Amino acid sequence: MIYSTHTPANSKNDLSALASSLSHIAIPRSISTVLLAFCLLGAVALLLWPLMIEPLQGLCAATNLVAENRCATAPGRLLGYIAMIAAFPAILILEKLWPAAKSQNRFSVGLLVDFIFFCFSPVIFIAIIVPIEDLLGSLYRYLGFSKVVFLGSLPTAVQIAIVFVLSDFLGWLAHVIRHKSAFVWEFHKIHHSQEELNYFSTVRLHPVDEIAVLLVRFLPFALLDANVAVPAFALVTSLSRVYTMFTHSNVRTNLGPLKYVLVTPQSHRVHHSTRPEHADRNFANVFAFWDFIFRTQVLDFDTYPETGVQDPNVPRPARPSLRDALTAFGKMLLYPFRSLRHRAH
Ligand SMILES: [Zn+2]
Ligand SMILES: [Zn+2]
Repeated sequence: MIYSTHTPANSKNDLSALASSLSHIAIPRSISTVLLAFCLLGAVALLLWPLMIEPLQGLCAATNLVAENRCATAPGRLLGYIAMIAAFPAILILEKLWPAAKSQNRFSVGLLVDFIFFCFSPVIFIAIIVPIEDLLGSLYRYLGFSKVVFLGSLPTAVQIAIVFVLSDFLGWLAHVIRHKSAFVWEFHKIHHSQEELNYFSTVRLHPVDEIAVLLVRFLPFALLDANVAVPAFALVTSLSRVYTMFTHSNVRTNLGPLKYVLVTPQSHRVHHSTRPEHADRNFANVFAFWDFIFRTQVLDFDTYPETGVQDPNVPRPARPSLRDALTAFGKMLLYPFRSLRHRAH
């Protein structure tokens, strides 16, 4: 079943219609409520963030995290997990009110698999990500990245904003690479294998896929002074986590005119689409304009396609049970290696 209210005439003239629509915006009530909910969340986040920078810096200084170059991103990642849990009820309400795929169970087995990824991610972080971050940190220090910086003279909030935008662009670039490189795609395919897209799908990431993101996306943090980098990473990680949780959720909205600036649940659903005409499109994470600039945006803003990958061998839970979800999770970790070995022979 395809969930679509596609109107070709609208999509073709979409960009030209933007100017006139901005002058007399008539946003439907449902979208207004979604916008209101996210404006409120955004306002709370903006109020809280300045308060969090100092405690985070204090925490890092107290535990010598930055000085020892160990787990410098741990506070950010922890905050990301907490933010995801905190946003969970709001997303549930939105999914109940305006589902994209109406027949999808809000507590589907697909969600269970993603939740297992969520629970397992700290293990991956400690076992794999931390050693790689240590190596990268040493490399960046050796290359003298933080000395090239003109950012240091700017106010902390401005530095963080610049790094946020830069990191989001590199996230877009990393995403293109994860699709275009046949090797990395085998791992990224696990993220795309979700047929019941939900808020926890944002963390359905194979560890190798996570490493691919890490190598590209978090480079700008090396441009910051250590005492700014840690809170900046915390801010960017948790805001991105909550936002991408929203864009993966089963919510029917394209956010009206905001879709030209921000990625929406509609545009990211199209990125996960099974339809060939949607393949390798809508790569952006938070800011949508990268896809408009590089012409990788699907200009149909009213279609809500089925999601998944055209690979029948990707592991899926056989039945909706915890046991099957755990088995599928284990198989998903091994599948890309098997698939690559199979292709090599
Ligand atoms: Zn992708
Ligand atoms: Zn996704």
